[in-house]
Amino acid sequence: MTEKENVNIEEIFASKVFTLGRMKERLPGDVFNEVYAVMQGGGELSRKSADIVAGAMKDWAIENGATHFTHWFQPLTGITAEKHDSFVTHPDADGKMIMEFSGKELVKGEPDASSFPSGGLRATFEARGYTVWDITSPAFLKEDATGVILCIPTAFCSYTGEALDKKTPLLRSMEAISEQSLRIIRLFGDTKSTKVTPSVGPEQEYFLVDRAKYLKRPDMVFAGRTLFGAPAPKGQELDDHYFGAIRERVGAFMKDLNLELWKLGVTAKTQHNEAAPSQHELAPIYETANIADDHNQIVMETMKKVAERRGLHCLLNEKPYEGVNGSGKHNNWSLTTDTGVNLLDPGETPEANVQFLLVLACILKAVDDHADLLRQSAANVGNEHRLGADEAPPAIISVFLGEQLEDVVKQLVETGAADHSIHGGKLMTGVSTLSDIEKDATDRNRTSPFAFTGNKFEFRMVGSSDSIADANTAINTMVAEAFCDAADILEKADNLELAVHDLIKQYLAEHRRIIFSGDGYSDAWVKEAERRGLPNIRTMVEAASALTTDKAVRLFERFGIYTKTELSSRQEIVYETYTKSINIEAAAMIGMSRKLYMPAVITYEKNVAKTVNLLKETGVDSSAELKILTEVQKGLAETLKATENLEKLVNEAKQMEYGLKKAEKYRDEIVPAMAALRAPVDRLETMVDKELWPVPTYEDLMFEV
Ligand code: ADP
Ligand code: MG
Repeated sequence: MTEKENVNIEEIFASKVFTLGRMKERLPGDVFNEVYAVMQGGGELSRKSADIVAGAMKDWAIENGATHFTHWFQPLTGITAEKHDSFVTHPDADGKMIMEFSGKELVKGEPDASSFPSGGLRATFEARGYTVWDITSPAFLKEDATGVILCIPTAFCSYTGEALDKKTPLLRSMEAISEQSLRIIRLFGDTKSTKVTPSVGPEQEYFLVDRAKYLKRPDMVFAGRTLFGAPAPKGQELDDHYFGAIRERVGAFMKDLNLELWKLGVTAKTQHNEAAPSQHELAPIYETANIADDHNQIVMETMKKVAERRGLHCLLNEKPYEGVNGSGKHNNWSLTTDTGVNLLDPGETPEANVQFLLVLACILKAVDDHADLLRQSAANVGNEHRLGADEAPPAIISVFLGEQLEDVVKQLVETGAADHSIHGGKLMTGVSTLSDIEKDATDRNRTSPFAFTGNKFEFRMVGSSDSIADANTAINTMVAEAFCDAADILEKADNLELAVHDLIKQYLAEHRRIIFSGDGYSDAWVKEAERRGLPNIRTMVEAASALTTDKAVRLFERFGIYTKTELSSRQEIVYETYTKSINIEAAAMIGMSRKLYMPAVITYEKNVAKTVNLLKETGVDSSAELKILTEVQKGLAETLKATENLEKLVNEAKQMEYGLKKAEKYRDEIVPAMAALRAPVDRLETMVDKELWPVPTYEDLMFEV
């Protein structure tokens, strides 16, 4: 479409999605009812109905130009995978093509999936893995240079039933939290609700960079982030990019992106410039957790695709540039009954809302008991540079409740009863032409990793490139456990009112240490957290050990989310992914140092040396040139030494088997050696002729998008 054409959101929204509405239109009533019942309550679709659904889906897809279908799944790489099959079958006797798609093909697929990470769950000789249709997430059409592909969201499991993906555990955890939440609300007299669903709204941050420049940076191409680069004269200190007017080129990208997302049924809602130069954000409207997860994958993929079309590249890495903010993904989470009640809504008088207070107390208990798992769920290689740095939440998990709730908690713990709460009141603008507005009951805290924001919790640690599945699986499961423990006690109580009161008080008192509303970026908090006994897990490698503690195994096995074997395999994958990613970064650095930076510096040295000689011949003072030459030479010598050291360490690591020891070698020796190589190169960048510098600089990358 042309730039000027008006957009009719109503018309294009979900035009590429096989929505419930389309199913209703195209399926016989009884089949639709069967599908709907399975979507809501689980169970299996009959073979006959599956065939009818598949036929309707295929007809719709073909009417919209589709040639292929794919089971779209989320292996442990953190991104999505697809293998296309065309609708082509054997032509009939007259040579006519009859396109087919059966219920069996819809429900089950068998990709030869031996090459996905399985952490030892499957050897390549036993490669059978199945994809299974996730009936609760709608099928959609992906359209690009490949043509139009019907994508069927699926879960991915091994022959022996172990989850090989991120989706299966998420779905399992959604069932667990639904079941346990129902037990809680039944205690408070809700007999109508039959299901409780976690809703998630992930805010997605990203950077844009000119594609031609990006392609000139091997570090960005291979590692998704810069591994070298002196700071630009200006960073984000003036705060003039945040919420600033959107540049034309970026605006055109955002417009395209929104269009594509709306067609795919993604409710792209908010867009703005973020804190760092060339950093932006997109937020959709929240929806059921597994669909939010699928949609977030679609958002990330579409961002990449649309950027490329516009001569840009979208950087989803958590830390594309040193010295300015990195990117994350705020994961907004709440629980809603199928009768429309948000369990995290305190209402006007939270102090009197006993069900809310119990839910809150359980969540605090869950977060405190499993802070290590929550931290682990947000660990990925790029996030290593964010968590604990001065821009993202620290690696310490704490909860921000806000003034109003904190006060209620205080009353409950100290006096055993809460009879009032702080209210927002009016905000006086002091300008007669501006209206005085109703304030929220509490201000915000941007430094908290797990913040209560009105009627939801916002988990702010997830990395921008990461899947949100792990984080939500962890949150759902640990909260399900707290609900379960509470329900076990309360269902047996003689006097429910009294028992609830005591339990809330007990949980709040026991887990109050997790509440923190101060500056999470400060050193004082690190010390205070240590005093409170809260874990501060600084690295991804360290965080991985949380997956296999007795506590974690007990938790996840109790609710059927992960088996012990699945947990160990996931831990192995963390070690492997970390090691391999850092190895790629180290290799990219070595290559850039030897093939780009050192040759450029030598060329510059040659030029300066020539000048020195020329000046000497003509009797002119050459001390300034000599000084420059000496300094540059010093930088080069240091670069060479650091390169050789990094090469030596990488070679040593090559001999080691994958696992914790090897990951530690990368973390403790190779990462510091990389920093030692970066330092002299970044210094040289500030000394060497810009014309000779072999790659685009931070100025070029961040300020000329
Ligand atoms: P905030 O300003 O508090 O960050 P926004 O309205 O900008 O809130 O929403 C941020 C994200 O949170 C959006 O994706 C939004 O849809 C989502 N969100 C809002 N309410 C809820 C809720 N009850 N549960 C889950 N996510 C929610
Ligand atoms: Mg937010």
